[in-house]
Amino acid sequence: MNSPASTALPPSLWSATASPAPHLERLLGEQRTQVVIIGGGYTGLSCALHLAEAGTDCVLLEANEIGWGASGRNGGQVIAGLKYNPDELEQMFGPDMGPRMVKTAGGTADLVFELIQRYAIDCEARREGWLQGAHSQSGLELQAERARQWRARGVQTFQLDKREAAKAIGSQWYEGAWLDPRGGTVQPLSYARGLAAAAIKLGARLFTHSPATRIERDAAGWVVHTPGGRVHARQVVIGNNAHQQQNLWPGLRETVVPAYSLQIATRPLPASVRDTLLPGGQSVSETRRVLRYSRLDAAGRFIIGARAPHKDNVTLTDARDLHRDMLILFPQLAGMELEYVWTGCVAMTRDFLPHLHELAPNMFAGLGYNGRGVAMATMMGKLLAQRAGGASAQQVDFPTLPLQPIPLHGLTPVVAQLYARWYDLLDRLKV
Ligand SMILES: Cc1cc2nc3c(=O)[nH]c(=O)nc-3n(C[C@H](O)[C@H](O)[C@H](O)COP(=O)(O)OP(=O)(O)OC[C@H]3O[C@@H](n4cnc5c(N)ncnc54)[C@H](O)[C@@H]3O)c2cc1C
Repeated sequence: MNSPASTALPPSLWSATASPAPHLERLLGEQRTQVVIIGGGYTGLSCALHLAEAGTDCVLLEANEIGWGASGRNGGQVIAGLKYNPDELEQMFGPDMGPRMVKTAGGTADLVFELIQRYAIDCEARREGWLQGAHSQSGLELQAERARQWRARGVQTFQLDKREAAKAIGSQWYEGAWLDPRGGTVQPLSYARGLAAAAIKLGARLFTHSPATRIERDAAGWVVHTPGGRVHARQVVIGNNAHQQQNLWPGLRETVVPAYSLQIATRPLPASVRDTLLPGGQSVSETRRVLRYSRLDAAGRFIIGARAPHKDNVTLTDARDLHRDMLILFPQLAGMELEYVWTGCVAMTRDFLPHLHELAPNMFAGLGYNGRGVAMATMMGKLLAQRAGGASAQQVDFPTLPLQPIPLHGLTPVVAQLYARWYDLLDRLKV
């Protein structure tokens, strides 16, 4: 995605109900620092916070406002782990890095809730677990295997049969479900703003409406240019994920496929309806490849999201299919009025893994969370802070991967649409 101009936050449920934003200025003139971070989403904010915690001087540049990208628009589902099962990750990354990576991925949700507690972040945080509904027998088998592998690593997961899943989710549609107790929910924009406030309190300097337009080397390290000024730093960290506004580093943008995801929220529901939905306070996603994800907010609105048309400005007309899906899954919502619709970009990678890159000496990037970035981007920020703070690739419990731009990247939106249709067909066939 390539948005030309800086803008205010797009309208959404989250921008309407978030805790206040910290007051920040645009960058004017010169700044000198140890680390300059580009991007004010969870990746950049968590990096700034962890650097500031370690006493490392840093400056963060955000093109728009804090949480303007996916971090202020997502479903707020805090999900531990990656798309792969732990055994698969261990096979892929070997006997040393494999288990370390699994531990890191398994600890992402813990990190989110620890930070919320440590800095008293006011973000409607709840930690009642995360549910994944199974759409088919194959989905149930996948969940049983995943649950077994995490149980073997000490996580007390629960399998729900069809009747238990119907009660826990409030939908008869699923064949069963998996409850991962590590998960939870946050008001995503309030969480981003809380991370920013914590980083500022510890001395990080944050600038908004200050897009990085160019990165150059200088004698002491790097210079990052913005329209109003420049930052000189030893190290650079880039955390722009799918909402990259500039081609800051050759090939970086071409490592991810931006995929739009649309969400709708009802008005606050009457108790008689609300009490039938996710009564345990969890959020729910599913095993379908083209998945729908749902939760309630603190005021009792029901929120559901799914893959969306490739456009930035959406209206309720764009949400007709999603509304229909919502009523198939949750027929008790018939007649409930919709209050909000909004969209954002998820960064998909070809290998479905998040990527930590060392682009050049003292230049790092983290991106590609495949729709699971609330927890993983927070963790990535911590890992990037470790790398920028001087840790070698081997000292960090997550692999540093080579930059591999996707060939014919310009065609990926078309290919992604074709894949989505194919996946949708497989989902309907329940395979
Ligand atoms: C609709 C939607 C629903 C989602 N739901 C969930 C969910 O429920 N659970 C989950 O785990 N994950 C979810 N995700 C994914 C998650 O939101 C992201 O993975 C995560 O927020 C990525 O954080 P980030 O900081 O890397 O990127 P972003 O939050 O996108 O931040 C990047 C920032 O960089 C800024 N930027 C870009 N270019 C420049 C530049 N040149 N100079 C300065 N700043 C720049 C942008 O303005 C932006 O603020 C969802 C995503 C979307 C879009």
